[in-house]
This record gives sequence, structure tokens and C-alpha cells, in this order.
Amino acid sequence: MSLKTAYRKALSGEQLADSDIRFIIDLPQDRLGELLECAHGIRTARFGNKISLCAIINAKSGTCSENCSFCAQSGHHGAESPEYPLVSAEDIAAAGAAARAHGVTRFGVVCSGKLVGDDDLAGFAEAVKQLAALGIAPDLSPGILDRSQLKALKNAGLQGYHHNLETSASFFPQMCTTHAYEEDVRAVRAGMEAGLYVCSGGIFGIGESWEDRVELALLLGELGVPSVPMNFLHPIPGTPLEGQDVLAPEEALKIVALYRFLLPDRALRLCGGRLTVFGEERKHELLQSGATGLMVGDYLTTRGGDVASDHKEITQAGLVPEPLG
Ligand code: SF4
Repeated sequence: MSLKTAYRKALSGEQLADSDIRFIIDLPQDRLGELLECAHGIRTARFGNKISLCAIINAKSGTCSENCSFCAQSGHHGAESPEYPLVSAEDIAAAGAAARAHGVTRFGVVCSGKLVGDDDLAGFAEAVKQLAALGIAPDLSPGILDRSQLKALKNAGLQGYHHNLETSASFFPQMCTTHAYEEDVRAVRAGMEAGLYVCSGGIFGIGESWEDRVELALLLGELGVPSVPMNFLHPIPGTPLEGQDVLAPEEALKIVALYRFLLPDRALRLCGGRLTVFGEERKHELLQSGATGLMVGDYLTTRGGDVASDHKEITQAGLVPEPLG
């Protein structure tokens, strides 16, 4: 068993054995550079030097019925978080146009809440139409959509459906007790069946183990999702995880690299918590950890970094943003 064996398997698309996965997890910190080099090699073999840029708008915020332990928008925790209903399609399109001017090719309309009512559905359809007209891929993160809602939005021009599983089925009940993990898995399957580009991933640093991380990656692989957003906990005062330690950058880099080995042909997008864990200083390593996408601009309830500096780092890492459609 060696890193070389795992690398060869990932390059050829062969599933890693449990022993390969354990080997990567147990790799000492002084071999992290080697691991990242392999992960970057796998991404280059599959995706070349392209990097996909996406951005989001927090289009409906706060008072969520669910109690996800990391989330400021849960109505259960009393954390300070903006609260407003779905913003207008015009405001969403204006934010999409601004993102497009920064070279962003996918734009996510993200909303708090678990289920979607008719009024919001009509608002989403209009926003999707306006975003598509701008030449940016409209993605939606609205909670759980049923088949007919997915179909209606696809007809309006929706391209991507985002719904995170957040963590493993084993750890989920420690993170959320207001709905079952299986409901989220069903939502992801429904998005896939509707023929949408499904973006589903998780959040790391919420107290989960390496086994939980592997379990999530293997399930995402099985579900066939083409895109996996990777978020890192930014502990927010007032949430149950306010006192949780922020992940060490080395551990977060290892998670990204491990996901590249486990999901060699999927887009891995670095999203929320990127700045919390890595700051502005370690972007270069992050861009060479196996990831193929970067969320730029602000996140849901936290500020993002400077997009111009992201572009500079991307160029310095020898990567090229995916062209606009
Ligand atoms: S993560 Fe989503 S579902 Fe969970 S509390 Fe936050 S807004 Fe609600």
C-alpha cells in the first residue's frame, strides 16, 4: 500500500480500497505536500487547468424551520442573522449580472427553509428566466423541491439544483433533528432524475470524524452528483457550534485532497468558510489541492474575499477560469 497505488487507482477511476483510504487519512503531516501534488495531478488529468467560478445570492434569509447546528439562519438558535422574504427577480438578476462581470459562470439563488410554496416557486421561475437571459447558468438552492416543482423550474431554464447532504447519514442526527437524512437524499435523487446539474456536498469541521467524511463522499459518488460543494465551519455566535474549533488548514487541505481521490471525476467547489480556515495567505495551496471550483464573493451570512485577489491567485496557480457561455 502506498500513495502511488492510490494515485494510480484514482487516475484510472478505480474505487479506492478501504486500506488505501485509511492510508491517506493516516498520512503524516510532513507528507501533505506529496498528497496535494497527487490530488492536483488527478484534477489536472481530468479537468486540465480550468477552474469554475460560481457565486450566490442569499435570496431569502432566516427563520428556517430546521435546526442544523452550524446554521445562523435556523429559527431554533437565536443567532443574529438577516431575515427577509424572497427578494425580487430583478434584484436577483442584478446580482447575477454583477457576478458575471467578475467571470462567474454559475449563479446560485440560495434560500433558507425546507419546503417551497407557490409564491416562491413563481418568483424562482422568473429569476431563473432573467438569469438565463444574462448568459449565466441559473442554479437554485431552495430546500426540498418535489418532482413537479423541479419540472416547472427546468422548463423556465433552471440548470442546477443545489441541495447539500451536509454530512454522513451516521452523523446527521447529531447535527439536525428536525428532518430525516433520507429526505435530503431523496431530494438529490429527484434532482438527478429531473436531468438537472446537481450540486450536493457538505460542511466540514462540525465535529464529524474522518469516517463520516468518507461515508459522505462515497454516498455522493453513488448518487452520481456531478458537483460537490465543500464548506468549512465558520462558528457563528448563538449557534450550537459557536465554540467549535475552526479546522486547521492542513486538515481541511487533506479533506479536499481525499475527496479528489474518492471522487476523481466530480467538480469539487470550495465554498463557505474558505477564508475562515485559510485566510488570504494560503489560497495558493488551496488551489492546488484537487479542487476544480471556487465560490467567489460573499457567502450566505458571512463576508467573502476580494474577487480580484482570487483572480490573481488563480493565474499564479497556472489555472484559467472557465469561459463564460
Ligand atoms: S442549513 Fe438550510 S435547512 Fe438547515 S437551518 Fe440553515 S437554512 Fe435551514
